[in-house]
Amino acid sequence: MKNSTGTGTTATAESRPYRGRFAPSPTGRLHRGSLVAALASFLDARAHAGTWLIRIEDLDAARNQPGVDQSILETLASLHMSSDAPVLHQSARLEVYAAALEQLRHADLVYRCTCSRSETGGACSGRCRDQAGSTAGVPAAWRLRFAAGDTVTFQDRVLGQLQFVCSELGDPVVYRRDGVPAYQLAVVIDDAAQGITDVVRGADLVDSTAWQIRIAQALGLRIPRYAHIPLVVEPDGSKLSKSRQSLPISGLDPATTLLQSLRLLRQQPPAHLEAAPAAILEWAVRHWDLTQLAGLRTVALPA
Ligand code: GLU
Repeated sequence: MKNSTGTGTTATAESRPYRGRFAPSPTGRLHRGSLVAALASFLDARAHAGTWLIRIEDLDAARNQPGVDQSILETLASLHMSSDAPVLHQSARLEVYAAALEQLRHADLVYRCTCSRSETGGACSGRCRDQAGSTAGVPAAWRLRFAAGDTVTFQDRVLGQLQFVCSELGDPVVYRRDGVPAYQLAVVIDDAAQGITDVVRGADLVDSTAWQIRIAQALGLRIPRYAHIPLVVEPDGSKLSKSRQSLPISGLDPATTLLQSLRLLRQQPPAHLEAAPAAILEWAVRHWDLTQLAGLRTVALPA
């Protein structure tokens, strides 16, 4: 991946009314990292006088944890963040994803891939791209075929201009071999269906964006603007530990939690701010400044 530093500002041609979203997978309760992503997408939407939606990405039944979707919604509500429209669950939309796969099959933009993860580390060996039809009856994933020599370039509002060489990424799986629609496909379809203009999410998903842009184009869908905000890491820069990830935000004081999250987002709430979620959010919307994060891929928790 090549990276050139951008300004982090919002210069794009997007003219639709702002619609943003937070799209958690209910695989674990909200932790410091995921709350920062939720708060950034909420503040960016409100600062643009936009709509903010919550979508539960619960397609991976094996990884979902019972009741975690409700816990995420309740924690966000305790911090005064609620979806402006009924919360969408992806598990209720399987026929929409199946129809999209049909569309891609008819346009001959996907191929069946029987490579196992252990053989290839997740990529297609290249064997399947060229052997259509020879694997009938064998469980197979569906992958979108990238054109040879393809590169995807986009302007990220935080990270600047990014370019991805598709041959390095590999062809994305759009349907898994167990028949479950892949995250990459479902997220693109639902962002378009919900009219999302702005995706604000963690930098761990930046590599997926090139895939998602090509999948959207293959389906004739509009592409949102992207802002990938830094990942929260330990004070020494290492990955957020499992113990911190499992620390339930729900047990902490809401005002303190919001102030800590704002500081991680490099916003500077003044000391005299009333220690109440509504007052803190009101200040944060008025002073929201995404450019404070320009170029940052990680932010460390205080020691
Ligand atoms: N559901 C994804 C996750 O929890 C995030 C999807 C997105 O924001 O695009 O990691």
